[in-house]
Amino acid sequence: MTKYDFDLLVIGAGSGGVRAARTAAGQGVKVGIIEDRYWGGTCVNVGCVPKKLYSYAAHFAENFADAAGYGWTVAKPAFHWPTLRDNRAAEILRLNGIYNTLLENSSVQRIDGRGKILSENSVQVGDKTYTAERLLIATGTWPFVPEFSGAEHCLTSNEIFDLPEFPKRFLVYGGGYIAVEFASIFNGLGAETHLVYRGDKPLRGFDEEVREFAHNEIAAHGVQMQLGCEIIAIEKQATGLLVKLSDGRHLEVDAVLSATGRRGNVENLGLENVGLEVNKSGELSVDGNFCTQVPSIYALGDITGGPQLTPVALAEAMVFVHNLYSGKEPRKMDYKNIATAVFCHPNIGTVGLGEEEARKAYPAIRVYSTNFKPMRNTLSGNTSRTLMKLIVDDATDKVVGCHVVGSDAGELVQGIGIAVKAGLTKADFDATIGIHPTSAEELVTMRTLTRN
Ligand code: NDP
Repeated sequence: MTKYDFDLLVIGAGSGGVRAARTAAGQGVKVGIIEDRYWGGTCVNVGCVPKKLYSYAAHFAENFADAAGYGWTVAKPAFHWPTLRDNRAAEILRLNGIYNTLLENSSVQRIDGRGKILSENSVQVGDKTYTAERLLIATGTWPFVPEFSGAEHCLTSNEIFDLPEFPKRFLVYGGGYIAVEFASIFNGLGAETHLVYRGDKPLRGFDEEVREFAHNEIAAHGVQMQLGCEIIAIEKQATGLLVKLSDGRHLEVDAVLSATGRRGNVENLGLENVGLEVNKSGELSVDGNFCTQVPSIYALGDITGGPQLTPVALAEAMVFVHNLYSGKEPRKMDYKNIATAVFCHPNIGTVGLGEEEARKAYPAIRVYSTNFKPMRNTLSGNTSRTLMKLIVDDATDKVVGCHVVGSDAGELVQGIGIAVKAGLTKADFDATIGIHPTSAEELVTMRTLTRN
């Protein structure tokens, strides 16, 4: 009989925390899990899931416009924000219920409230203290808003889903995943949309050709790109929010979303009680077994500063539980070749290295790139194009990067992710017979070298 209340006490019931709790409980470990806000975490409540639902909603605008060339007469479409917002809320409530049932069925004890670490083996929640042999911090991240006059008028991704009214004029601040996705969503839903970003084009860190292409497509879809500038102030006025930019221009809008990154969610977590420190992004460092500098305290998911992606947190949770509780040979989390998608319009799907990264990593590379009008856009008159790109290590012929900007790029690149992960070669791609007629067949029929 353990001298503690639990073998494992998890703080934070997001993707990583819930997966770790359930999997450990499945191995006979006595587990408790603490959550004060979002059962299911950011992804389910204010992240990936509701964002994807809103992205679907926004895509309809293009579909209605495309329908005419295919012979359909569509009455002037009208968008009703409260319907989308409330249907989304109901769906998320349904998912919360599923999360709760999963936890209950796996005999994990749910504890509602904010957890504060008191010592290496104890956590306070409200007026109760729980003890555990091991603690797992899986509190994720929280939106960061830069400091400027009137910054309190900014919304973050925590509030954006539940706006009481649809903003007719919308501004997104930032140039990362969340910024381009929400710019596309509100633009698609009919708002006049501005994206304000300090760089020369969004999505720093992605392949340059992908950035350029996506930037042009997002702009062609109607998002007004305000680049090379920052917000210096926001003033609330009778008619809206006056946003003052560093280049001297002013924009008046109804809502501003700050999508300027996220920081570790460590406020009042009690890290100081055990001598744990975070870096300037609020992230905790851990070793290959997700252990912090305190031997009984572990951390995984977004708070550890790795790729902030739900499937990464899930995979980390599986490795964590396996290594601690299975008694089997320890495993290492593999962060190489993680496929990811950005749900801007058009979508971006990417796996492996960008061209610039590949040039640094390999002495010689080959690049195969094609940019075409997808068949669906012929009769519709839609002018959007699709970019597909393969990057090959010349010495081994291995495909080390694949990038797609176009419809359902994430769906497509998930499959290619398997090929890249498996180390398949360009010759393997070439030997694969295409599915005709699809856009995806381009990936196995690109024979002409673009550059090396
Ligand atoms: P990102 O880190 O992707 O982007 C932050 C953006 O804000 C960057 O463009 C950055 O500019 C800018 N920025 C940062 N600080 C400031 C500042 N002080 N002033 C002005 N601009 C600033 O963060 P997001 O918030 O978009 O997303 C957080 C994470 O969530 C992502 O990294 C991603 O891993 C995850 N996510 C994944 C999604 C998916 O898988 N589809 C969807 C949404 C989020 P600069 O580039 O110049 O540094």
